Amino acid sequence: MTAEPEVPGTPATAPDDLTAPDDLMEKVVSLCKRRGFIFQSADIYGGFRSTYDYGPLGVNMLRNVKNAWWRSMVQLRDDVVGLDAAILSPPRVWEVSGHLQNFTDPLVDCRKCHSRWRADKLTGPCPNCGADDFTEARPFNLMFKTHAGPVEDEGAVAYLRPETAQGMFVNFANVLQTTRKRPPFGIAQVGKSFRNEITPQNFVFRTREFEQMEMEYFVPPDEGPKWHEYWINERYRWYVDLGMPPEKLRLRPHDADELSHYSSATSDVEFLFPWGWDELEGIANRTDYDLRHHAEASGEHLDYFDQATGERYFPHVIEPAGGVTRTMMAFLLAAYDEDEVGGEARTVLHLHHRLAPYQVAVLPLSKKAELESISREVLGLLQPHVMCDYDVTQSIGRRYRRHDEIGTPWCVTVDFDSLTDRAVTVRDRDTTTQVRVPIDGLVAELRSRTGED
Ligand code: ATP
Repeated sequence: MTAEPEVPGTPATAPDDLTAPDDLMEKVVSLCKRRGFIFQSADIYGGFRSTYDYGPLGVNMLRNVKNAWWRSMVQLRDDVVGLDAAILSPPRVWEVSGHLQNFTDPLVDCRKCHSRWRADKLTGPCPNCGADDFTEARPFNLMFKTHAGPVEDEGAVAYLRPETAQGMFVNFANVLQTTRKRPPFGIAQVGKSFRNEITPQNFVFRTREFEQMEMEYFVPPDEGPKWHEYWINERYRWYVDLGMPPEKLRLRPHDADELSHYSSATSDVEFLFPWGWDELEGIANRTDYDLRHHAEASGEHLDYFDQATGERYFPHVIEPAGGVTRTMMAFLLAAYDEDEVGGEARTVLHLHHRLAPYQVAVLPLSKKAELESISREVLGLLQPHVMCDYDVTQSIGRRYRRHDEIGTPWCVTVDFDSLTDRAVTVRDRDTTTQVRVPIDGLVAELRSRTGED
């Protein structure tokens, strides 16, 4: 386990110079579509509201976000194991977890235009028609209900999970028996969740289908607060380590009236989005709420017997729960920049190399046949180590700009000298400096640049 890091200042309001330009959101949304990060779903039929498809670049980046999370939460630790549970689940799970009863948002109707809004997010009159006349708020359950099998009756009802967490709780005993882990230990999962959001908005920030990265960390009950603090710090640091500017991040403890039905305390990691501070991830102390309820309802043993002390207890659970899609969007917003290179304007994404869709672009200077074989040799050398693009179209300057715009940290240019000196030029996205590197030393050079040798 690593030492607890200091958490840097967490400003309550955005300093003026950090307020993003008004059109940042439009620019990033447009770049996402133009370059193949994110498309509106069912675009050719006019789009399906609030659902998005991730294109050739987006799917790489999404995968990189998940891999970076898995690496930090599972691979580099010996106290966390993984799980991949089903999305379809029987009503009993959600009844016992409290979601059927409590997983609701307050819904109001505008009496004038009949549009529907989430009451806790409304700050003024109806955003649609300007009237200030709403119905009383009533709870609206966010779970998607469907039927499993050919008969659509009550007995066939199933739900699409609204969080991945219950998969970890209902498998607690399975994992305990098969791994012989003992508290403190965690179960991590990455996967899709579904919520019938009343007002999906802000591009992929709030959608009805999205991906989550969640970890349930089971601890002895009296150690709950200590581990809560630990995971708040760890999770904050993860974003900073991946290049998120600390001034655009803050931690915010929930007020008592904001807490979910299972939580005794929650702190959010928030990002300074173009519309203000908003949640990236919640780190909750779920106490023994879930294990205790599932044990009572199923009659199974979901407690832990500590042989050393002879004690039997329900572990308390600390849960860092983040969104893959929302996090990807935040990294894109934070990375977007416009600057000048050699008197020419360029758009650049200063993405951390672990997150960029491609780490390297291999660029033959010319389309001429004699460069092809050596260029493909360079490509073949790099592909086992990093995600590469191979691009032969247009001028080399254009190709550099194209890769700056999608955040590729390094371009490797193969020119006619390469045929005789067996060296290539490596260009850095952020500094635009170029150095000549022998082909045989290319992998080592990249390793030293990523600090991963
Ligand atoms: P909100 O208050 O924004 O509705 P929440 O507090 O209900 O979110 P959690 O239940 O804590 O969210 O879910 C954990 C994480 O999953 C969130 O921090 C977010 O990153 C992600 N997430 C939740 N709902 C959505 C959604 N509709 N679209 C995209 N990501 C989501």
